[in-house]
Amino acid sequence: MRIVLLGAPGSGKGTQAKLLVEKFEITQISTGDLLRAAVAAGTDLGKQAKTIMEAGQLVPDSIVLGMIKEKLSDPKVSKGFILDGFPRNLSQAEALDKLLTEQGIPLSVAIHIDVNAEEIVKRITGRRTCGSCGAIYNTFFSPPSKTGVCDKCGASDLQQRADDNEETVRSRLKVYQDQTAPLIEFYANKNLLNTIPGSGDIQGIFNAVCDAIT
Ligand code: AMP
Repeated sequence: MRIVLLGAPGSGKGTQAKLLVEKFEITQISTGDLLRAAVAAGTDLGKQAKTIMEAGQLVPDSIVLGMIKEKLSDPKVSKGFILDGFPRNLSQAEALDKLLTEQGIPLSVAIHIDVNAEEIVKRITGRRTCGSCGAIYNTFFSPPSKTGVCDKCGASDLQQRADDNEETVRSRLKVYQDQTAPLIEFYANKNLLNTIPGSGDIQGIFNAVCDAIT
């Protein structure tokens, strides 16, 4: 099972990817997570990416393609993978196509999670992630029972991503419209596209995602 998850920032790709990982034991490859790890580690690549990410722009293709190539060469991905946040523009999508064709492992499906822009702004600006266990909350829609404390592991370490403020969100949405949304047609033309409404409860959306891939 080899899946691309498409959708605006905050559409729920990461949440659905984690559920897919649990259910199908496949590997999640999130370029955003990989880049944030590089920023946190202070590597050269992370230093290069930091300001671009904080401005809500795309980091250069060469950087993300290098990360993706490395991840796809890991034997663990032979069971399948979910690409979450990659590809983000047409040249990345074409490069991915070429890479997977060379490796003889074509995509099974591209799932587009469709959510309107205003809901997305609330979702993103309200998003908090537990720094200890990775659990995800939203201060508008799904707050933890005790403010600032993770329900799952009890840590008082709920963090807001540096690029989750309203100004950056608006520019990330514009980048999405201009550069990433054309991939919807790209995958539709390849008969790989499956669009799923991404509003409503997480489990209902997950059921629709599972129907789309099985
Ligand atoms: P995400 O967590 O997927 O929303 O990504 C956070 C930020 O990382 C984006 O706003 C971009 O700056 C950068 N990023 C993530 N994936 C890519 C990609 N495939 N191409 C370029 N930049 C990316």
